[in-house]
Amino acid sequence: MTTTQENLNRLLNELKDTKVKLVAVSKYHPVEMLREAYDAGQRIFGESHVQEMDAKHDVMPKDIEWHFIGHLQTNKVKYIAPYVAMIHAVDTLKLLKEIDKQAEKASRTVDCLLQVHVAKEETKFGFLPDELRTMLDEEDWKSLHHVRIRGLMCMATNTDNQEQIHEEFKTVKQLYEELKVRHFCHEDSFTELSMGMSEDYKIAIEEGSTMIRVGSLIFGARNY
Ligand SMILES: *Cc1c(COP(=O)(O)O)cnc(C)c1O
Repeated sequence: MTTTQENLNRLLNELKDTKVKLVAVSKYHPVEMLREAYDAGQRIFGESHVQEMDAKHDVMPKDIEWHFIGHLQTNKVKYIAPYVAMIHAVDTLKLLKEIDKQAEKASRTVDCLLQVHVAKEETKFGFLPDELRTMLDEEDWKSLHHVRIRGLMCMATNTDNQEQIHEEFKTVKQLYEELKVRHFCHEDSFTELSMGMSEDYKIAIEEGSTMIRVGSLIFGARNY
């Protein structure tokens, strides 16, 4: 067994008594490593650059679910709309509308998560909780029939302060529950909370994550 496969199995073993799904974040890693994970049974891969995901999608087996987890520019949606399984970081209504348009062209419906900004860091994208409430209240999004809003996604602050990380995930979980009641109670598809990476996935799971996005713990450090 390769190191990648050992790492993957260790993680899957930790998840086996939960319903938490694993997105194996393979950005910057060569297809050989994705293949090792694939051969060990992994089918959900997360990428954060359009060209890189396209190139990997072209050569990897077709039963993979490709999740786009990075910041997505509207002008690049068209490249991934024909095959992407889920877009994790929808951070504007404009982007949601573009995904809808490109998904329709591809005769598909694309699963999306709305990104919430909770981290105390300038650089992280996402809706502030109140911006998200306003956007959903305005109901423009209800006319989009080729996107399915499946839940929320967030990134916690990169800090050693465990308490802060707990609080940030808790905030997003509460917001998720609030929005579910207010806007999605007649749909059974608003089910996902994408929270947790290599450094904080255990905390995220304690706080209700349904989907963790783990890269370096499986594939090792990235070479940028
Ligand atoms: C890179 C990345 C991850 C994975 O990070 P690791 O620390 O390597 O697990 C998760 N989520 C997003 C949005 C990322 O860009």
